[in-house]
Amino acid sequence: MAVLDSKVPKGPLAEKWSKHKNDIRLVNPANKRNIDVIVVGTGLAGASASATLAELGYNVKTFCYQDSPRRAHSIAAQGGVNAAKNYQGDGDSVYRLFYDTIKGGDYRSREANVHRLAEVSTNIIDQCVAQGVPFAREYGGLLDNRSFGGVQVSRTFYAKGQTGQQLLLGAYSAMNRQIQRGKIKSYTRHEMMDLVLVDGKARGIIARNLVTGEIERHGAHAVVLATGGYGNVFFLSTYCMGANVMAAWRAHRRGALFANPCFTQIHPTCIPVSGDHQSKLTLMSESLRNDGRIWVPKKLEDAQAIREGKLKPTQIAEEDRDYYLERRYPAFGNLVPRDVASRAAKERCDAGYGVNKTGEAVYLDFDSAIMRYGREKANTMGLKDADDKTVRELGEKIVEAKYGNLFQMYEKIVDENPYKTPMKIYPAVHYAMGGLWVDYNLMTTIPGCYAAGEANFSDHGANRLGASALMQGLADGYFVLPYTIGDYLAEDIQTGAIDTNSAAFDEAEKAVKEKLERLMKGSGHHSVDYYHKKLGKIMWNKCGMSRNAKELQEAIEEIAALRKDFYENVRVTGSADSKNQELEKAGRVADFLELGELFALDALKRNESCGGHFREEYQTEDGEALRDDENFRYVAAWEYKGEPKDAVLHKEELEYENIELKTRSYK
Ligand SMILES: Cc1cc2nc3c(=O)[nH]c(=O)nc-3n(C[C@H](O)[C@H](O)[C@H](O)COP(=O)(O)OP(=O)(O)OC[C@H]3O[C@@H](n4cnc5c(N)ncnc54)[C@H](O)[C@@H]3O)c2cc1C
Repeated sequence: MAVLDSKVPKGPLAEKWSKHKNDIRLVNPANKRNIDVIVVGTGLAGASASATLAELGYNVKTFCYQDSPRRAHSIAAQGGVNAAKNYQGDGDSVYRLFYDTIKGGDYRSREANVHRLAEVSTNIIDQCVAQGVPFAREYGGLLDNRSFGGVQVSRTFYAKGQTGQQLLLGAYSAMNRQIQRGKIKSYTRHEMMDLVLVDGKARGIIARNLVTGEIERHGAHAVVLATGGYGNVFFLSTYCMGANVMAAWRAHRRGALFANPCFTQIHPTCIPVSGDHQSKLTLMSESLRNDGRIWVPKKLEDAQAIREGKLKPTQIAEEDRDYYLERRYPAFGNLVPRDVASRAAKERCDAGYGVNKTGEAVYLDFDSAIMRYGREKANTMGLKDADDKTVRELGEKIVEAKYGNLFQMYEKIVDENPYKTPMKIYPAVHYAMGGLWVDYNLMTTIPGCYAAGEANFSDHGANRLGASALMQGLADGYFVLPYTIGDYLAEDIQTGAIDTNSAAFDEAEKAVKEKLERLMKGSGHHSVDYYHKKLGKIMWNKCGMSRNAKELQEAIEEIAALRKDFYENVRVTGSADSKNQELEKAGRVADFLELGELFALDALKRNESCGGHFREEYQTEDGEALRDDENFRYVAAWEYKGEPKDAVLHKEELEYENIELKTRSYK
C-alpha cells in the first residue's frame, strides 16, 4: 500500500504557511501571461480562484453547467461564514478556530491545513467587505456575529439568511472584471466530461456544450476542479438539483485518489420529507439554532395525539416538553455539531416521539426567543409593564429582522406560520466532507490537477462545523491556490500553448462519445430518475445516519446490480448531439452509481464511528460515536481499478502534534 505524501511543510504549526509561501517557486508577471489555467466550477471556490488567478495575470477559462456563474449551488448558503476576528471579545482566536474545527471533525482532518484555514479566515472577511458584500452590522455600524454549532464563541459573519448569495455576487463581480479585461473566458452551460492527461500531467478537459450537444477540447497547463459536493448520490438532499460528482469522478478514473467518500453530513434542521413525489429537500439554516429550541413531547401519548392531529404543540405544557439537546448536552445545548444533533433527533423519533404523520420530525421552537427579545425591547422602550401581547409583537419583529427570509420560506413550503407554531424539522443530506484527495498545495494525485472547495476531501474531517464550507471554499480560492499553483506552473513557463490535436485528446474525446452512446442505448424501460431514486433509497437506508456491516455489504451488492440494470434498461430520450437534459442527468447518475458503491465500501472498511460516520457496532453506552484512533486515524484514499469493489485503499496517517486526541464531548 502506497504511503501518501501530504507535502506538509516542516516547522512549527503557526509558521508553516508563511514559511511555505516564502519557500515555493514563483512565476513572474511576464511569464504568467503565457500560462493557461482551466477552472471547472464557478461557485464560491471556483469564482474566487478564477478571479484571483486572472488578476495575477494567468489566462483563465472557467466552466459551469448553469447559465451563469451566479447560479452555482453556493448561492443557496444561508447562515454565514466563520472567521477568527474576535470582534465580540468573547475569547476567540486563530487557535480556537483551529481547535474547534479539528474537534468538530472528530480528529480526522489534517492539522496543518486546518491551521492555515483558521489563519486566512480573517482575510476573507476583509476581502469580501472590500468587494462590498453587505454583511450584517450592529447598531453602531460594526460587523455583527452569531454562533454556529460546536463552538462557544460568536464568530460567524452573515448577510441575513443569504450569505452565500452575497458572497457569490462579490466573487462574481471580481470575475466579471476579468472577463471584461479578457483574462477570463467564461464557458457557461458547459459540462466537463473528462480530464485529459498528457505524459501523466493534467493538460485539459473534454467538455460538452449543453446547448448544442457539441463535444469540445480545451487545453491548459493546469486544471482546477471546484465542482462542489456529491451529496445528491442520496437523491433527496439540500443540494441544488444539478449538483453531481462527474468532474471529480472523471478525474478519479484518470488516477486521482478519492478520499473518505463515506464522510457526508446529514444536517439536523431541514423541512421533513413529505412524500414520494419529492425531488428536493429544503434547509432551515443552522443559524436558527441560535434562538430556536429543539424539543419533542416527553410523553409518548402526546406525541401520538399530535401525529393524529388531536393535539397542537402549543397546547403542550412546558414541563411536558423534552428539550433533549439541552438535557443531553448542557454545555453546548441546541448548538451541538450537526452529526450529534441529527443522531439525537433520529434517536427520539425512532423511540416514537416524532411529531409529524411520518413520525420523522421534531420541533424547532422560537417562542421563548420571541418573548425574551420582546421583553428586552419593551424595557429599552421604557415599557416596563408591557403585556404579553405587546411583548410578543415586539419580539416577533426582532426575530423577523434576524431570520425573516427563512421564516417566509418555511411558511411558503409548509403553510404554517412559524412565529405562531414551532417549525417541524428532520435531518437531511447536506454536505460532502469526502472528495478528491489533495496535498497541502491542493493538488490531487494527478500532477497539475487541483481540487478546491467542497470538491476536495477538505479540512473538515468526519464532520463539518456550520459556516465553515464558505470559509474553506473562499480560503482555497482567494488565498491558498493562487500561491501554491505557481509552484507547479513555474515548470511550464517555456512549455507553450497546449496542443489539443494530440493522441491524448483524441482518446479522451472518443471515450466521452462512447459513454454518451452507451447511455443512449438502454432498452428504455425506466427513466433516469427511477434509478436515481432507487440508489437514493439504498444510500439513505443502508449508508445514512447510522450504518452496520451487514447492510453496507448489502448496499454494495445492490448498487452494483442497479448499475448493471441501469445501463441495460435506462430510457434516455432525444439525441446526444443536441440539447438533452435527460442525457445530462443520465451521465450524472451513471457516476453516482459508481461513487455510491465506493461510498459503501469505504464505510464498511472504517470499523469505528467518527463524526457523521456512525457505525452501530461502535458506540459508547450512551449512544455516542466511538472512535478507534489506534487503527483508523487516517484519511482513506481510494485508487480506481475498474469496478468500485476493486478499488485499492491508500492511507494518509494523521499526525496530531499540536492537539491532544480526546474523546469528543459536548456535554
Ligand atoms: C441550503 C444550503 C445552505 C448552506 N449554508 C451554508 C452556510 O451558511 N455556511 C457555509 O459555510 N456553508 C453553507 N452551505 C454549504 C456551502 O454552500 C457549499 O459547501 C459551498 O457553497 C460549495 O461551494 P463550491 O464552490 O465548492 O461548490 P458549488 O457552489 O457547488 O459550485 C460547483 C460549481 O461546479 C460546477 N460544476 C460541477 N460539475 C461540473 C462539471 N462536470 N462541468 C462543469 N461545471 C461543473 C457548477 O456549475 C458550479 O459552478 C450551505 C449549503 C446549502 C445547500
